[in-house]
Amino acid sequence: MKQPIIDMHCDLLSYMEYVKGAQPFFPGIGCNFNALKAGNVKLQVMAIYTGTEKGSSETGLKESEIFKELQTTHKENVCLVKDIASLNAAMNSDRTGMVVSIENASGFCEEDEPIENAFKKLEKIISNVERVIYVSFTHHGENRFGGGNYTKAGLKDDGKKLLDYMSGKKIALDLSHTSDALAYGQLEHIAKHNLDIPLIASHSNFRAIFDHPRNLPDDLAKEIIKRKGIIGLNFLRAFLNNDEPNVFYDHVLHGIKIGGENTMCFGADYFFASEPDPKRVPYYHKDKEDASCYPALLKYLEGKVPAGFLEGMSHKNVIDFLKRTWS
Ligand SMILES: [Zn+2]
Repeated sequence: MKQPIIDMHCDLLSYMEYVKGAQPFFPGIGCNFNALKAGNVKLQVMAIYTGTEKGSSETGLKESEIFKELQTTHKENVCLVKDIASLNAAMNSDRTGMVVSIENASGFCEEDEPIENAFKKLEKIISNVERVIYVSFTHHGENRFGGGNYTKAGLKDDGKKLLDYMSGKKIALDLSHTSDALAYGQLEHIAKHNLDIPLIASHSNFRAIFDHPRNLPDDLAKEIIKRKGIIGLNFLRAFLNNDEPNVFYDHVLHGIKIGGENTMCFGADYFFASEPDPKRVPYYHKDKEDASCYPALLKYLEGKVPAGFLEGMSHKNVIDFLKRTWS
């Protein structure tokens, strides 16, 4: 039996927004609707991604409108997941459920406007998409909230305000694009003010297996495990290991070794590069090129991991997390 799949991160919305003539069946993006169906993907988290640049919050809003439109223009293929009931419905349907996340808080706040606008614009996005599953404060760079993966900057005052705002709203905090300093700053602020914010890494691997700033150091991974969050393993060659496709298995084993058996899931990170970086092409190993790969990938892991692990990794760990978070 094919396992149903939940995947915690793709960039279909920013592809639709940034690329002229984009359409969701385009085979050049790994999370195209045909590949999602072939892979038995029952829930795909779709990120609202923007750079930190002038007009970013308009772009964020536009992507929320694209998300909404897809539910009517492609209702044979996708359906909205906004709560446990619609999640259950998607898991049992032949369509792919979809829910929004925000990758870079610049998607709802410009660098130079009053911070109060951030909360209003985030509310507006939420009213369009009905549910935001997680927010990542940054992308690779730095913004008014804090520092991204390729920086040393930590948590800033506006970042503290954003955490205070998120507390109790059942929106998870995503550590996949934080600098280490930002992640520790967020943890410290959450602890100091006893904030109620679930913690995840939506699309990250382990630094102990491949040393890269996009991968999690063990102490942050263990913090997520301890708080019963989730960690979505990323398919990008640059973060797994450029040369060795089977290293995916080493990341899985490492996650199990540090106690993450019930924490790991998929965060494949399919995106479209309109100007591909020659140093990174091909972006994915052949066996993880698009979302149709999940069944074969699980088959490869069969017998190599503890009983029940594949059920957990493919969908159950996320469902359990969402039941804890959304109920
Ligand atoms: Zn990302």
